[in-house]
Amino acid sequence: MARVYNFSAGPSMLPESVLNRAAEEMLDYQGSGQSVMEMSHRSKVYEPIIFGAMDLFREILGVPDNYKILFLQGGASTQFAAIPLNFMNGSGKADYILSGQFSTKAWEEARKYGVANAVASSKEDKYTHIPDHDPSMYTPDADYFYICYNNTIYGTRFTDATLPKTGNVPLFADVSSCFLSEPMDVSQYGLIYGGAQKNIAPAGLTVVIVREDLLGKARDITPTMLNYAIMAEKDSMYNTPPCYSIYMCKLVLEWIKSIGGLEAMKLRNEKKAGLLYEYLDKSELFIAPVLPRDRSMMNVVFKTADEELNKKFIAEAAAAGFVNLKGHRIAGGMRASIYNAMPIEGVEKLVQFMEDFEKKNK
Ligand SMILES: *Cc1c(COP(=O)(O)O)cnc(C)c1O
Repeated sequence: MARVYNFSAGPSMLPESVLNRAAEEMLDYQGSGQSVMEMSHRSKVYEPIIFGAMDLFREILGVPDNYKILFLQGGASTQFAAIPLNFMNGSGKADYILSGQFSTKAWEEARKYGVANAVASSKEDKYTHIPDHDPSMYTPDADYFYICYNNTIYGTRFTDATLPKTGNVPLFADVSSCFLSEPMDVSQYGLIYGGAQKNIAPAGLTVVIVREDLLGKARDITPTMLNYAIMAEKDSMYNTPPCYSIYMCKLVLEWIKSIGGLEAMKLRNEKKAGLLYEYLDKSELFIAPVLPRDRSMMNVVFKTADEELNKKFIAEAAAAGFVNLKGHRIAGGMRASIYNAMPIEGVEKLVQFMEDFEKKNK
């Protein structure tokens, strides 16, 4: 069967050239006579894979020298607990902006460990925008300030204009669904992190980038496996890391570099999102519920006014090779996740399909 255009929110598409390379190297990685899946993570042949991936990550994202890059497991959701365990140990307070499901889950987890303040929420508006907030609402002595930068389910995202200006309180961001989609000034953050399965690699790898001076303050009860300082000290190999996912991450980073790095990636992604939103804005059938200021470049949420028509659209799109367009079960409607690996032509063809669908169903 021909490859489909896969609009899944995660795990999601990987670049075809990366999959081909992995296939070529599957049985014999660079003359080692082994698959990467079969190697010891402490072998001479594997070391350049994990350290090469970390170095490339640093280079491509421009991660400053005083930040550690950790390759962990447990997904983004495990970090919801690891973050308060590692950092909510000064005043025991932290601020959270509730902009959707994942920041709310992170906040609920943090409340088990200390005073987690919900600074602002857009729940009442079904998370169709980033909630308003200003520094008078922040906790001055918070141990950190937490946001989810790109809200995968609701299709919103922070921008420079809406990003909290937290002064001396380190800003932490879940960037799972926008990691490496555009350049980012890492120095504005105390910590950023994300599960790899949205934009970087197959599931299994979670990347945490943390400012060194924040480490070493974990609570005594912190499980060793969740202690970022220990993971940093052990080069993310306290135990067996997600070896194959890290290898795939390295191939994806090489691919990003080959097409011109994050500036080029941003232009591609802006073009794709622009095509979709431009059509949605003029469509008389489809509605884009998100406040234009806060629209995600990665997850484009839309619907029709009629639930039956949504179902029909999703089914007909899938039959035509545009799969996984169903919205998250808590949000309904449709969502096109157009991460880095989605080619521009995939979005052009989807828009064409939507135009045809609109003509037939007006
Ligand atoms: C997918 C996602 C998560 C959850 O990721 P897991 O790796 O499944 O735990 C958390 N935050 C955001 C922004 C996500 O997109």
